[in-house]
Amino acid sequence: MGRFHRHPDGTVHEHEPTQDPAQAHAHDPAQPHEHGHAGSHGHAGAAAALVADHSGYVTGARRIENDRLAAANRADFDAAGVRVVNLMSSPGAGKTLLLRRTLQRLAGRVRTGIVEGDIETSLDADRLAGFGAQVALVNTGQGFGGECHLDAPMVRSALPRLRLADLDLLVVENVGNLVCPAEFDVGEHARAMVYAVTEGEDKPLKYPVMFRAVDVVVVNKVDLLPHLDFDLDLFLANLRQVNPRAGVVQLSARTGEGVDAWCDWLLAALPAA
Ligand code: MG
Repeated sequence: MGRFHRHPDGTVHEHEPTQDPAQAHAHDPAQPHEHGHAGSHGHAGAAAALVADHSGYVTGARRIENDRLAAANRADFDAAGVRVVNLMSSPGAGKTLLLRRTLQRLAGRVRTGIVEGDIETSLDADRLAGFGAQVALVNTGQGFGGECHLDAPMVRSALPRLRLADLDLLVVENVGNLVCPAEFDVGEHARAMVYAVTEGEDKPLKYPVMFRAVDVVVVNKVDLLPHLDFDLDLFLANLRQVNPRAGVVQLSARTGEGVDAWCDWLLAALPAA
């Protein structure tokens, strides 16, 4: 993996070896001016005001930069006719195995790409190889400060490695984390989360930002229910408290039970052929 450097125009390039690696960190809080908002983007006034405000200016400037690039990503996705789903969960909930099952089922029907987000390693990207999908890996530990989520600039850094015009569906497998990924629009059209029944019934109440952010909750590992004290009805009631509108799909990525219903949800998210 190369290191990435975000240029003031918003583009992200492989980090040139002649540059100081310390400058490659896209979110270095010590360098709030690195994004170059004083240029021609039309957000310069608002960004400058936030940068000058020392009560949390990094968050404000970063938010503006993220949302600007999320809009740019979405424009590129729309121009290419590709629908994008941001897939989130805790570590170990089963995103990658579900995607393997998904790619197996959609092969030959839906041209699918994956942006694979992990802090380190290509382990999950490797697990998704061989199913005919385009896979672009983003390691946040390489030039993105080891961030615990993908944001719009990171997803944008992967786009030059994907042929968007040849895709119908792009799934962004976010970094495993039940908090931060929900706070960043990456330019997706829909948001999904995988939730394993081993995580307990209470998490919608304890991590409401994630559960509120999603359009569908995939309840995974239901094959384990006979061995657990997990109260599915209580979990669903807790989910309804924070997000009454989210769809729910119950499945086991391990056994394959219910995966077709998840694929149907994905297919319904695609634009009409
Ligand atoms: Mg994974």
